[in-house]
Amino acid sequence: MRKCLNHRADADVVSVMVNHSHRLDRLPKYLFAKLDEAIEKARAMGVDVIDLGVGDPDMPTPAHIVEEMVSAVRNPTYHRYPSYAGMLAFRQAAARWYEQRFGVACDPASEVITLIGSKEGIAHIPLAFLDEGDVALVPDPAYPVYANATILAGGTPYAMPLLEDCGFLPELEAIPVEVRERAKLMFLNYPNNPTAAVADRQFFREVVEFAHEWDILVCHDNPYSEIAFDGYRAPSFLEVKGAKEVGIEFNSLSKTYNMTGWRIGYVLGSREAIAALGRVKTNIDSGAFEAVQMAGIAALTGPQECVQESVRVYAERRRLLLELTDALGLEAEPPKATFYVWARLPEGTRSMVYCERLLDGSGIVATPGVGFGEHGEGYIRLAMTQPTSRIEEAVRRVSQQPPS
Ligand SMILES: *Cc1c(COP(=O)(O)O)cnc(C)c1O
Repeated sequence: MRKCLNHRADADVVSVMVNHSHRLDRLPKYLFAKLDEAIEKARAMGVDVIDLGVGDPDMPTPAHIVEEMVSAVRNPTYHRYPSYAGMLAFRQAAARWYEQRFGVACDPASEVITLIGSKEGIAHIPLAFLDEGDVALVPDPAYPVYANATILAGGTPYAMPLLEDCGFLPELEAIPVEVRERAKLMFLNYPNNPTAAVADRQFFREVVEFAHEWDILVCHDNPYSEIAFDGYRAPSFLEVKGAKEVGIEFNSLSKTYNMTGWRIGYVLGSREAIAALGRVKTNIDSGAFEAVQMAGIAALTGPQECVQESVRVYAERRRLLLELTDALGLEAEPPKATFYVWARLPEGTRSMVYCERLLDGSGIVATPGVGFGEHGEGYIRLAMTQPTSRIEEAVRRVSQQPPS
């Protein structure tokens, strides 16, 4: 911030000029402004808007987790600064959960840290690994934080297209050698937001080999590991041999236990990478509120039926969303995992235009695929995060008045 003093004989006017960094200018511009405006306008006009755009569970956090929070919040022990790396008891709970769920063994003391939501760790990891001009390999379409955090750290994102023909997996062979040489990080996310694609262990094995060869840290983001259907069980990247030497995995309580508002997640894997991220965090935040970590322990170690209960609800909504895409005349694969349906638009249709028309015609909000990157163009994302009756209402509206 630069202060410009306007010396005028008759007044002492002080105006403050705010000069933000060039980094902020390098962030892609916010694409949804016009759509947001249209949603606001529709609401103001009294339209009963059904928002299938948000990736935020509508169901409440299970009661036993809330109860633990209530009692922890009364305990003065937790009112003080938390430890930087997170409570050992929380990290032990996360490590045990990974051991039981995936057969992945991590040392809670050196290979796990608590995060203030996994987004926090994802946003900070580039600061630990990228110098000016270094490359991070980033999927496209993707959760925008991977590319934007790279830019904020002074790095350069290199887009790995996720194409339907390749099962929405990046083609590692297509990455030019000069890019591989400059790459320090690779972000991956399966089960995937927004495409709902899944990856198998064979793909992860190829990634580990690639990362070893080119000396790249793999950052696998796995917040949807438990939101899966028809008996599908998502793997952890860390299950693959050699993965822990070249990679870390982010996980979160947000989607699994309906805890997006609590801000609690964790990262595990490579000891060196965890230590480097920890050093960044020590200088930025002071850790997650310990009462929230206590609630997180209750979530990870308590009864897990609540997870299956949520998944049952999502499965019904998945069926309804596929009815909706059918009624809209769009093609969509039934997702094996995540709470999204990724629907293909007719050839040549721009996703932003489609979503504006859908809102105008039916009062339904979908997310334009282009908001997740240029390779998301031609698709829309629908989320299973509205009450089932609202999705039924969306199906009813479109069935009664199909789009022209
Ligand atoms: C929801 C989401 C997250 C972030 O979850 P928090 O733990 O709540 O920060 C990370 N990655 C992807 C792909 C997500 O969809």
